[in-house]
Amino acid sequence: MKYRFTLLLISCISSYALAQTTADLQLLQQAVSAQQLRQTVEKLVSFGTRHTLSDTTGARRGIGAARRWAYQQFKSYSPRLQVSFDAFTVEPDGRRIPHKVEMKNVMAWLPGTDTGDRRVILITAHLDSRASDVMDATIDAPGANDDGSGCALVMEAARVLSQYEFPCSLLFVLFSGEEQGLYGSRHLAQKARQEGWEIVAVLNNDIVGNSYSSELGIRQNTRVRVFSEGIPAAADEQTVRLLRLLGYENESSSRQLARYMADIARKHIPHLEVRMVYRKDRFLRGGDHTPFNEAGFTAIRVCEENEDFTHQHQNVRTEKGIRYGDLPEFMDFDYLRKNTVLNVLTAAALAWAPAAPQNVSMSVSGLSNHTELRWQAPVAGPRPAYYRVLIRSTEAPQWEQHIDTKDTAIRLPYSKDHYLFAVQSVSEAGFASLPVVPLPARE
Ligand SMILES: [Zn+2]
Repeated sequence: MKYRFTLLLISCISSYALAQTTADLQLLQQAVSAQQLRQTVEKLVSFGTRHTLSDTTGARRGIGAARRWAYQQFKSYSPRLQVSFDAFTVEPDGRRIPHKVEMKNVMAWLPGTDTGDRRVILITAHLDSRASDVMDATIDAPGANDDGSGCALVMEAARVLSQYEFPCSLLFVLFSGEEQGLYGSRHLAQKARQEGWEIVAVLNNDIVGNSYSSELGIRQNTRVRVFSEGIPAAADEQTVRLLRLLGYENESSSRQLARYMADIARKHIPHLEVRMVYRKDRFLRGGDHTPFNEAGFTAIRVCEENEDFTHQHQNVRTEKGIRYGDLPEFMDFDYLRKNTVLNVLTAAALAWAPAAPQNVSMSVSGLSNHTELRWQAPVAGPRPAYYRVLIRSTEAPQWEQHIDTKDTAIRLPYSKDHYLFAVQSVSEAGFASLPVVPLPARE
């Protein structure tokens, strides 16, 4: 009896360690709690203001108290999370920084189990808030939705994902200084580029917890926007010429990430659909993913489908019977839960997948109605069990079909003239890397 029990235990442990199947995505999904998200948002609001220039020493009010609390929260989720402040000094800029200020991003690092795997996936939001006047650092600026929603999402993702192991690392970041000019994200993006971080994806979440559209009166809690750049901000002139030549204006790595997220939502998340917006951000507006795009990284912004401008960047007040201010009572926590699940499942699927294939190329040595692709295995991380070749018509928003192969070359009966192709590395359990589009090769 005892022997049988031990055997059973061993098989349970080994299946847990090896599992990483779509069943794990189901468990991750169930672990995300709307109640936990609400508590985090309410706690963040209780700091009165989280303005970048607000008090840093008080125990209860201001950005200092808020970031110290967030730091402790991350620590409480798992001893495996390495929590730190990423501090830097910003000089007066003649715009939204009137005097020298020390800013601190709050970071929680979940190290990968494979020390040779240098990949990292970021889930981010901004901790600072603002009221009507972006320079007012003392008035109440609750910032429940902008961006308490994103912060609660990042913290909940850290709580849930830190119960699992991944070969590569995950990094959870609460940026400072977003409303004053994207200071925290620019600082980290530049550091990541200088230090040669292998960033797979930056999932930036800003304004993700309201489902009501001011003026239009639309209520919509089953759709979320994912913004992604088309022509990469970091592409030099020669690269832009090549992208035009190949018809790859819609094929940036960030756009591939947006497609990947749309696919995750379609397959795994009930009542949530991704609207892929073919823009880097909302019209003439910006966010913390942009400095990462500018530094050459794959980065997208997740944002609610409908925004409510009576509760964004507004002093808390009542005017002509209308209640203004960014307060938790105007949020939809089940909608925020679904947006959190979208981040959690995307990060887990990418982190359990092998790294993307390398040197993906398409033969262009002669005219043919066939397409020949070639690629190489990734050098680090888990070995791909097989590869997935994706195919779609040039005018289709999503990949339409796929062919799986264990080879590192394939000849397809589809013409490169009106189809697009990409290759993913796939794990035994079926987790796929981001797709890589081929570049022309003359041999
Ligand atoms: Zn924001």
